[in-house]
Amino acid sequence: MPSTNLGSATKKNSSKDESFVLVSSPMSRNLPFLEVQSCADCPRLRAYCAQVAEIKRAAHSHDHYWGKPVAGFGDPNAELVIVGLAPGAHGANRTGRIFTGDRSGEWLYRALYEADFANQPDSHRRDDGLILKNAYVTCVVKCAPPDNKPTLDEQNHCREKYLVKELESLASAKVYLALGQIALIGLLNALKSTYRVELSNLKNLKFGHGKVIELPNGKSIVMSYHPSQQNTFTKKLTAEMWREIFVTCRNLCELSQKNS
Ligand code: SF4
Repeated sequence: MPSTNLGSATKKNSSKDESFVLVSSPMSRNLPFLEVQSCADCPRLRAYCAQVAEIKRAAHSHDHYWGKPVAGFGDPNAELVIVGLAPGAHGANRTGRIFTGDRSGEWLYRALYEADFANQPDSHRRDDGLILKNAYVTCVVKCAPPDNKPTLDEQNHCREKYLVKELESLASAKVYLALGQIALIGLLNALKSTYRVELSNLKNLKFGHGKVIELPNGKSIVMSYHPSQQNTFTKKLTAEMWREIFVTCRNLCELSQKNS
């Protein structure tokens, strides 16, 4: 894994930068997959999202939950594309923006800020002013699943219907960051559909935190443990390990800029 000085990747100035491009998933007109929010192809998942939105968690009892599929969010010209598994039931399914409103999102957007991919370290609501630069965040499955476990059929269907098109739209992508093993499998299958990437050499690929693989089309995949509470509380994923992942992503993006 390439390494560099963390300090050089840390954004010091929290004021808004005009060069940041905002594409908020519910408001964007630029990307063709935004009809996602009205998709009802998976009755089990839609029923669960609606149920969570109705019952709510005590801490969010006054919130109006989104309760629908959640589209990707970020810079449409991003070189770094981050792929998780699915929205959190009381995070993105509540706020309507991916990785927003829960602990995983706090970890993700803080790391993106520190690596200069975001204009602010916090992500609480979809209108909180967060802007991503050169980074885009999405998931294999767009609806929050019970127990964070979408079925294989749900994964396959949502991936082929939305993630594949999403990756097609993100033509500037150079580095994909897969958050966890299931996201990695979803990403590999989506890339196979999107770019006809030949995956025969990758069929025995094993997930490993910090692993970097180069795809036949010159793009790279970085693997990381998901910043779930389970992983961060147990220190399976530490803050230092997590920061290092984004330094690697930043370095790979810069390397690809130099080589292009
Ligand atoms: S998981 Fe995907 S395909 Fe299924 S209902 Fe949600 S948006 Fe539609």
